[in-house]
Amino acid sequence: MSCNTQATQVHVDEDSGARRLVVNSRDLDGARDVSYEFLRREYSFDHVTVTDVINRLSENPLGPYLTCVPSSVRELVEQFPFFSVAHLRAIAQIHGVSLHGRLQRGMCKDALRLHDCEGSCPSVSYVFHVLKRPRHNYIFVPDLHRPSNSYSNECYMKAKENTKKQRQRRAANALEGLAPVGPPAEPPLVSPFPPVQSFAAKREIIREWQVEMSPDHLQEGVCAVCVQIFAAELLVDVVPSKEMLLTLNNNWLPAETRPRTYDIAKYEGAILCCHGMSCLGNIGDLRMCLCCRRSLSSPKPRQPKDAIANFQYYGVSELPVDVKSALACASQFELQLIALARATVITHHYQTKG
Ligand SMILES: [Zn+2]
Ligand SMILES: [Zn+2]
Ligand SMILES: [Zn+2]
Repeated sequence: MSCNTQATQVHVDEDSGARRLVVNSRDLDGARDVSYEFLRREYSFDHVTVTDVINRLSENPLGPYLTCVPSSVRELVEQFPFFSVAHLRAIAQIHGVSLHGRLQRGMCKDALRLHDCEGSCPSVSYVFHVLKRPRHNYIFVPDLHRPSNSYSNECYMKAKENTKKQRQRRAANALEGLAPVGPPAEPPLVSPFPPVQSFAAKREIIREWQVEMSPDHLQEGVCAVCVQIFAAELLVDVVPSKEMLLTLNNNWLPAETRPRTYDIAKYEGAILCCHGMSCLGNIGDLRMCLCCRRSLSSPKPRQPKDAIANFQYYGVSELPVDVKSALACASQFELQLIALARATVITHHYQTKG
């Protein structure tokens, strides 16, 4: 049953997770609807009325007022969480719902959530006033608990008052040195947890996950200068200049250890990694990470500290066959010993090259 007989278009369709309600339904030609999401963001509740004396000029979109007719009282009080106790009592009165004087706000709300408009209810309009500052950061938490009926609420309030009286009596007794009168009763807790995200926020989270997890995003590549692995999007192809390549030389390396995986003469003797190069036989783009790019593309190129040319070129592919096979069958401890000697040399070069 509905208490608004004049509302001909009561839309209960889903949009961004929120239901919609009819606006200005008395003006049947102009009947339209807005979402509760919009109402929560832009409006505060003004008053509830059974008469339509609102001046058209003061109405939305010309004026600050918005008159709404929801499909049910329950939907309205559940979807619009800014009703004060006074508002809830006014709505209850117009619907003939009697509220005990002691009830708290949540209980008044529950009483309205349980109300079902019978034929005796008048057709009611709810008038909202536009806010000066919209509630942009408000996160709507729907009522997850079942409404409790006002009779049990009254009992609860009475029990609470009794407990309060008991506690006062106990305090008084304690002062007189008497024994306490039994354990205190704890009130039940109702907390909206976990917070429920809006549909837009959920969609944003899913979209972000899809971008982060897409195969394009997960691709990796090697920097030709420092041979470190980076996400492909962090690497940029750079056209190498002569000065750039000359800074990547290392004249300490014996000639037989120099890389032969690419034409090193064409690259001015630069020590590079073939996996980050676009062309091995001739000068081509070099894939570089941000650090190497910064050091090398400045007006006066410097050798990046992490560059393999800075004594971090292992020359594994250029090893003589017997050394290669010796390393292949070396024990864990032998490899650690070699690594230790290597680390000392690297530390030395890091310190002297400041
Ligand atoms: Zn009613
Ligand atoms: Zn690099
Ligand atoms: Zn390589």
